[in-house]
Amino acid sequence: MTYLGAHLSSSGGFHKMGKAALAIGANTFQCFVRNPRGARAKAVDPADLGRLRELMAENGFGPIVAHAPYIMNPCSKDEGIRALAAEMMAGDLALMEHLPGNYYNFHPGSHVGQGVETGCRQIADMLDRVVQPGLQTTVLLETMAGKGSEIGGKFEELRTILDMAQCGDRLGVCLDTCHVSDGGYDVTNHLDQVLEVFDRIIGLDRLKAVHVNDSMNPLGARKDRHALIGQGTIGTEAIVRIIAHPSLRHLPFLLETPTDDKGHGEEIAMLRRLLGEA
Ligand code: FE
Ligand code: FE
Ligand code: ZN
Repeated sequence: MTYLGAHLSSSGGFHKMGKAALAIGANTFQCFVRNPRGARAKAVDPADLGRLRELMAENGFGPIVAHAPYIMNPCSKDEGIRALAAEMMAGDLALMEHLPGNYYNFHPGSHVGQGVETGCRQIADMLDRVVQPGLQTTVLLETMAGKGSEIGGKFEELRTILDMAQCGDRLGVCLDTCHVSDGGYDVTNHLDQVLEVFDRIIGLDRLKAVHVNDSMNPLGARKDRHALIGQGTIGTEAIVRIIAHPSLRHLPFLLETPTDDKGHGEEIAMLRRLLGEA
């Protein structure tokens, strides 16, 4: 069965999130491990995290994805904001050590006029500070829409970060279908070609998770507005082709469409039906 889930809007404990995932027919999920807009970390509750580990094992969950807060910008011009990014990521990764074998995804950041090269260097430097040897979580760089000075709208930019970081060999990538379409990669009509390009530049072995979103905007728009599955420019058929693709189907697929847990449950049910799993 495909590992299909969503970014959960419910919060209040990790075991509770596992149960919320089960309730919507998911066998993976994504969540924030702290307030997405604030820097405040949640207190670590090892017993609660242990109960989530049990729930995941008992229910055949695939790997889950913790998403870094949106305010994190490891390539800000401001040294204090860069330091805060490192501090937040280190804290989140310490919590994730209670859930070994899962993923931590982050937006590479916006270089705000410093240039892609400087931005990539700052991101790589932060990663080398926080991705310690023996870490049990794989840190993922997310493919971005390329909005403003966002780094990661081109596969080459992610490659640059992987090359610059000493820990680059231990990092992975999360592909967001809305973002890559907005970035000009036509996953709707030319999925095989896009995956060939991804493989050549980054390597398909580095791809660890997929964000499943339709897009409100046309190919190459660089806007980053997610749409419900089937209500955007990518469309349901193309989304199903992505999930069922032989090079991708083993990965965890996470919905980040603009709806709540209940709405995600309906999308999961529809996708499972179309995948022949329901
Ligand atoms: Fe994201
Ligand atoms: Fe995403
Ligand atoms: Zn997005």
